[in-house]
Parts: sequence; C-alpha cells; structure tokens
Amino acid sequence: GWRSRAAFKLIELDERFHLIHPGMKVVDLGAAPGGWSQVLVKRGAAQVVGVDLLPVEPVSGAEIIEGDFTDPDMAGRLTAMLGGRADMVVSDMAPNTTGHAPTDHLRIIGLAEEALHFSFEILAEGGTFVAKVFQGGAEKAMLDTLKQAFALVRHAKPPASRKDSAELYVVATGYRPQRLEAAA
Ligand code: SAM
Repeated sequence: GWRSRAAFKLIELDERFHLIHPGMKVVDLGAAPGGWSQVLVKRGAAQVVGVDLLPVEPVSGAEIIEGDFTDPDMAGRLTAMLGGRADMVVSDMAPNTTGHAPTDHLRIIGLAEEALHFSFEILAEGGTFVAKVFQGGAEKAMLDTLKQAFALVRHAKPPASRKDSAELYVVATGYRPQRLEAAA
C-alpha cells in the first residue's frame, strides 16, 4: 500500500497530465514518508532520489538523502547520483507552520520559490517541475519566472487534496533553460 494519503495526489496529477514516463530520472523534494517516491517507482521512473529533512524508511527502487534540499552541495550530490540532470523535479514540501498566518503564507511561498530555483540547477532541458503552492497558485513573481522557464504552466487541485485546504499544485512542463538565461 501507499505510505501516505499524498500518494493519491501524485497519482491523480499523473493521470491528468501524464507526467511520469518509463526510464525517467526524478528528484522528489520533501519525500517523507515516501508515498510520492513509491508512486514514481511504481509508474516506471528509472531512477528516483528522494530528499527530506526527516528519515524515510527505505523505498524499494528509490534512493533517499536525509538532508535539507537547500544545502549548498545538494545539487551536486543529486546530479552525481543521477549521472546527469533530472527529467523531473517534484516537490510536495511544506514548511513547519507557526500558526501566524502571514508568516506561514510567506514561508510557503518562499519554499516553493526556492524549490523552483533549485530545479533550474538540476533539471534537463524539456524537463518537468511539479510543486505544491497555495491559495491562488503561484505568486506573480514566481509565475512570471515559471512562464519564462517552461513551455507550459498549469495549476491543479487533485481530488485527493482536501477541499478546505488552500493547497494547489503547479505543473510546469518543457523546461527551456536558454529562455531563462536570455531574460537574466
Ligand atoms: N509527498 C510525501 C509523501 O507522499 O509521502 C509527503 C511530503 S510531506 C507533505 C512534506 C515534507 O517536506 C516533510 O516531510 C518535510 O520534512 C519536508 N521538507 C520541508 N522542508 C524541507 C527542506 N528544506 N528540505 C527537505 N525536506 C523538506
């Protein structure tokens, strides 16, 4: 069985957008307890590396790094393990909440933006980025960056995501690094 209810969200996103392809290399940011990594392996990804601050019970077919994705050596460690860049970066990360809504909102946005910028370091051309964002979707600045860097940017709330939660996912496909460089 799946280790998390969150697993169903990735299954639903994959059913709608056909994200997971046989042979692909995927980095799963915020992998604990391992549900998304299980789905990625089961649906045919060739290599899955999960990263989390928390320990993760071994997931058959996936590799796990216990650590913070913002560690300065993380991009290098991941590309070394993958033997190159990733075809897809998925992030189901959520920051610890403080209970102070404005602070929590800023933290959530900050984490998604950091995940996006991290993906630029490890994603192959044509690659896919999937991340949890909140409320109206990606904030304006993040959305502008996404639209520059990817051919197609969509938002989705998978049915398994609770109706009363503000969570949404951004699904960006067709990474085009040269567009990003031109804009810089
Ligand atoms: N998709 C997972 C699954 O299906 O099992 C559930 C992920 S859970 C909602 C979010 C995870 O993000 C938490 O385990 C948390 O430790 C992790 N996380 C938050 N900030 C992180 C960071 N800076 N680096 C690595 N992991 C982080």
